[in-house]
Amino acid sequence: MNARPRVRTPSASKAPAAAPPPGADDRDEAQVIVVGAGPGGSAAAFHLARHGVDVLLLEKSEFPREKVCGDGLTPRAVHQLVRMGVDTAAEGWSRNRGLRFVSNGRQLEVDWPETARFPGYGLTRTRHDFDDLLARRAAGAGARLRTLTKVTAPVCDRTGRVVGVRALAGTERREVTLTAPVVIAADGASARLALSLGLERRKDRPVGTAVRRYYRSPARHQDDYLESWLDLRRREDDRVLPGYGWIFPLGDGRVNVGLGVLNESRTGTGDTRRMMDDWLVRTPPEWGLREENADGPLRGAALPMGFNRVPHYLPGMMLIGDCGGMVNPCNGEGIPYAMEAGELAAEIAAQALVRPEGPRRERALAHYAQEINRRHGGYYRLGNAFSALMARPRFTSAVTQKAVKSPAVTRAMVRMLSNLTDDPAADATDLLMHVLVRAVSTAAPARHASARSNPRAVTR
Ligand SMILES: Cc1cc2nc3c(=O)[nH]c(=O)nc-3n(C[C@H](O)[C@H](O)[C@H](O)COP(=O)(O)OP(=O)(O)OC[C@H]3O[C@@H](n4cnc5c(N)ncnc54)[C@H](O)[C@@H]3O)c2cc1C
Repeated sequence: MNARPRVRTPSASKAPAAAPPPGADDRDEAQVIVVGAGPGGSAAAFHLARHGVDVLLLEKSEFPREKVCGDGLTPRAVHQLVRMGVDTAAEGWSRNRGLRFVSNGRQLEVDWPETARFPGYGLTRTRHDFDDLLARRAAGAGARLRTLTKVTAPVCDRTGRVVGVRALAGTERREVTLTAPVVIAADGASARLALSLGLERRKDRPVGTAVRRYYRSPARHQDDYLESWLDLRRREDDRVLPGYGWIFPLGDGRVNVGLGVLNESRTGTGDTRRMMDDWLVRTPPEWGLREENADGPLRGAALPMGFNRVPHYLPGMMLIGDCGGMVNPCNGEGIPYAMEAGELAAEIAAQALVRPEGPRRERALAHYAQEINRRHGGYYRLGNAFSALMARPRFTSAVTQKAVKSPAVTRAMVRMLSNLTDDPAADATDLLMHVLVRAVSTAAPARHASARSNPRAVTR
């Protein structure tokens, strides 16, 4: 490839680097560095490797590892798995055929739609296994995966362009500097790299809080449907909360049980714990969703939604997944969007890298922010408006009551809230969705932040 950026050698005061294990690749430069091996980072690394790009995939943990999640995969996520050549019929995957909504003592089952683009089934798999599988898939395609490598800061050249990262590598936390003409930030909701470059989250866009816990539940672990309880209520005033509780079957004797609420409800993590207690006490005792059947603690994390961190491209660095606020504000789903963004970033980086270093390559890279906005910007704007409405108790009550009474309305809602439509439109729901998205789309250009003003970036 083209000339590497000039970087200062690491501080001479450091201890000498430990020899890499036999067979390990110890080159500290690549064409692309991906930070974080969650679904977004592994998808990006996989597709880059498939494009023949030399890619370093850096992950602070060691696999397999836990990640707080509902472990639910809609057909949109299955679509991305298929694009990575994952065999979803193999052992370890638990298949589901749709969603079951429970509200005000009634319930309604809705099968996933069979669209031209997305398959008619969903899956579950714990993130303990799922992330490990995807990271191995990326490594199998040729990405150089380095676990136990915690990125601490971006490295910038004198113009403020990101040209690499600083990291602590291995159990001995050896300081290393890794360089590449393109860096992809996929470091999740902590968004450490973006924050180091001064890219704060937009406060006018939604953030959710979600908690989950595993339970041993012989009665519920082999359900054909992902179950969603829409009538979570606040203890003080019985108000219906903007969010939902889930019971996702894992097929291994356990269920993943959790709830997510929009932060408009002004509930902290302490409150979500109490909300879980209030909700689970309403479930039948024979399901086993009680303390004595819990498999591990209740754990929670943020849901950064609706593109709440923009722009998605800073000179030399693309943002994908949770660090770019890519969770769907309508349903709290983030895995497929992180993977889609990873694939798009890979495609654009590969195309950019065949151009000479300079303005032409830069223009090709900057196209990522426009393209991700073109694909999802309108839908997320619509979702942000929907989540603002969900913060109004009367609207929330109306939606939760209507949802289980009218199968046709609920089917259309599932298509819209899960973003499972065809383009061009194949039916009235697709058409309605496209009209709404077009109506809110203003094609606003992404704001551009300067890396130069960042005090925490390491300047080269
Ligand atoms: C309780 C809960 C339930 C959810 N349920 C669902 C669900 O059922 N379905 C769904 O689609 N989405 C769900 N989500 C959202 C989903 O988990 C995220 O959107 C998704 O994981 C985003 O993927 P990502 O690759 O962007 O980030 P992550 O999955 O967070 O991966 C980031 C990776 O980067 C690594 N990393 C972080 N910092 C560094 C660093 N400094 N150096 C090196 N590595 C680093 C992390 O260890 C991690 O491996 C849920 C979220 C929560 C909190």
